[in-house]
Amino acid sequence: ATPTSIMVGTGKAAEMGILFRNGAALQTLQEAKVIALDKTGTLTKGKPELTDFSVQGGFEPKEVLSLVASAEAHSEHPIAEAIVASAKAQGARLLEVQDFSATPGFGVEARVNGQLVQVGADRYMTQLGLNVALFAEEAGRLADEGKTPLYAAVGGRLAAVIAVADPIKDSTPEAVHALHKLGLRVAMITGDNRRTAVAIASALGIDEVLAEVLPGGKVDAVKDLQGEGRKVAFVGDGINDAPALAQADVGLAIGTGTDIAIEAADVVLMSGDLRGIPNALGISQATIRNIK
Ligand code: ADP
Ligand code: MG
Repeated sequence: ATPTSIMVGTGKAAEMGILFRNGAALQTLQEAKVIALDKTGTLTKGKPELTDFSVQGGFEPKEVLSLVASAEAHSEHPIAEAIVASAKAQGARLLEVQDFSATPGFGVEARVNGQLVQVGADRYMTQLGLNVALFAEEAGRLADEGKTPLYAAVGGRLAAVIAVADPIKDSTPEAVHALHKLGLRVAMITGDNRRTAVAIASALGIDEVLAEVLPGGKVDAVKDLQGEGRKVAFVGDGINDAPALAQADVGLAIGTGTDIAIEAADVVLMSGDLRGIPNALGISQATIRNIK
């Protein structure tokens, strides 16, 4: 492309709230065959809410909620914020905590009132040697509704199954539809439960799902998609999206996301509105077509 056409394209994009960091990104974006998107905070609002909390095995629901929320009060994960907010709204007491530790992509544990409290994904419970079979059916049903099922154990015994749901952004369905119309494959990359991810993806018509990806694993997920020499654009907002944004042929960051993601990206969408992605592609295509 000529320097002039790139300047024109970059300017047009900027007017629409799409910042191309470099001319190369404007030229490469239209070569993308796949658009991969982070789920939490990109396809969804990133503000989950607690929707379900059911206790089994003779535990007292109020007490379990209080123990779980007390442990989660020390985590910065959006899931933790959802649990704490709901517990507070229900009048649960937050208790003092000792020995808090978080395992990214798995869950958290702490000692609350002298009791060991562990909260996290089914793979976390499995890693701890706890059998989730008793709750598996309910967790599966919750996941099929697009909710994220979590488990809580108290004193090394499974006590509750919990679900949080993160609403889809208003602009997501339209953005996915527009990307399909531009001839792209749409993929989702997430650390979330596979069944939850599949439920959300199929509701949106997303073509490919890479789920239960560990925090450091998004780079490999992007590499997988690049496998057959396909050019891949990746869209993300979080700290752990930065390496994948750099690995992708074009990295697009959500401007409302973390600074680290924005710094690693080639393109910044000033708002959280995902229609910026097909718009950016359209401008890239038009720029290249004009100069051919
Ligand atoms: P994502 O950004 O897609 O949510 P993460 O790697 O942050 O992915 O988390 C993956 C999974 O690990 C979550 O869906 C949840 O099951 C579990 N997890 C992580 N942090 C916590 C936490 N503080 N409390 C409970 N579960 C957690
Ligand atoms: Mg995210």
